[in-house]
Amino acid sequence: MKQAKVRLYVEHPLGEGQTVPLDRDQAHYLFGVMRMAVGDPVLLFNGRDGEWRAEVAEAGKRGGVLTCAAQTKPLQMPPDLWLLFAPIKKARTDFIVEKAAEMGAAKIMPVQTAFTNSERIRQDRLQAHAVEAAEQCGGTFVPEVCDLQKLDRLLADWPEGRQLMFCDEAEVGAAKTLGAAGAGPWAILIGPEGGFSEEERARLQALPFAHVVSLGPRILRADTAAVAAMTVWQQALGDWG
Ligand code: SAM
Repeated sequence: MKQAKVRLYVEHPLGEGQTVPLDRDQAHYLFGVMRMAVGDPVLLFNGRDGEWRAEVAEAGKRGGVLTCAAQTKPLQMPPDLWLLFAPIKKARTDFIVEKAAEMGAAKIMPVQTAFTNSERIRQDRLQAHAVEAAEQCGGTFVPEVCDLQKLDRLLADWPEGRQLMFCDEAEVGAAKTLGAAGAGPWAILIGPEGGFSEEERARLQALPFAHVVSLGPRILRADTAAVAAMTVWQQALGDWG
């Protein structure tokens, strides 16, 4: 049986014998770029039905059809972990979203803090980065990238039972770790290049569900901090153990 080289995210139900229509961009990628033809295999996933091996049934310039043959992986949900981060420069924000998707975030939430530079984000573009990261890393789930929201508003409506790993740069070098924190729904918060304001810091440190954490003795760039924090959390409480 021919080995499938390509993994493709589709917004279409997947199941035995299910036909999946391709849009123009998908057809261009499979048949124009990857030079695939009728009968060639593709791995499909949609974030709900696991991963399926499908074969090209029809191939054209403007479209095509794939037919699902067999499930190759069941849906593997990531831990219930949100990544809250203040958007920074475009390329680095793209990087944060891509790494969060690869590293197992269930939801990616850009937040506006006092010192956040960006007033707005391109949510559709960031969502596409999360999809590409899932295609590349073999994931069967794609985290939602939310639109930009104010951190204050989010904290005011904070869901019962969700704990918050507050990565506070003011704790640089302090021995502040996740310690004996318990499993369950969590969120990680990473600030902007300018860090957190004193008011934000005081408010966050006073929250009963917040765990103040240091990411070591050096100040990390926000994108580095996002990866470091997810690594710490995943090793301690996530699905890497
Ligand atoms: N401008 C700030 C300063 O010089 O202190 C640094 C902000 S840092 C570039 C961006 C974010 O990364 C911080 O708000 C924090 O969430 C996280 N971060 C970076 N280094 C950290 C550390 N050593 N401990 C905890 N969080 C850190």
